[in-house]
Amino acid sequence: MTKIRRLLRRNTSRRKAILEELRKLKTHPTADDIYKTVKKRVPEISFATVYRNLGILKEQGELLELDCGAGSSRYDGCVRNHYHFICLGCSRVFDMEEPVFLRLDRIAEGDSDFDIRYHRVNFYGYCGKCRRTNKNKKEAGK
Ligand code: ZN
Ligand code: MN
Repeated sequence: MTKIRRLLRRNTSRRKAILEELRKLKTHPTADDIYKTVKKRVPEISFATVYRNLGILKEQGELLELDCGAGSSRYDGCVRNHYHFICLGCSRVFDMEEPVFLRLDRIAEGDSDFDIRYHRVNFYGYCGKCRRTNKNKKEAGK
């Protein structure tokens, strides 16, 4: 095999490993979380390689990059449109059970000449665990 073909094959197998590891996680990991996970499988991989491949996989429509504010991207191996709940306390990202409100696209189009294809929604608040912790803190402060 030529050197270039060997390099291409290595790239493809690394990209496949990154996507497979991401799809196993339901936690909406950061690039750094994915790097740490993939490193167990491909010890010589660098963060730059993981990060670059996350960008390529996003372009290919294989994953979603969620903007969770404060410059922290989270990745999702499930590309079917769904809503997220982001905890303001612990920053965990949860999938919402609520089905996507497809009619919202038509409502938003209204009388405009926009052709809306999809929308993304994040809900923000406190997860059960953080709610209970906040309550305990308040009670302790009394
Ligand atoms: Zn929380
Ligand atoms: Mn998700």
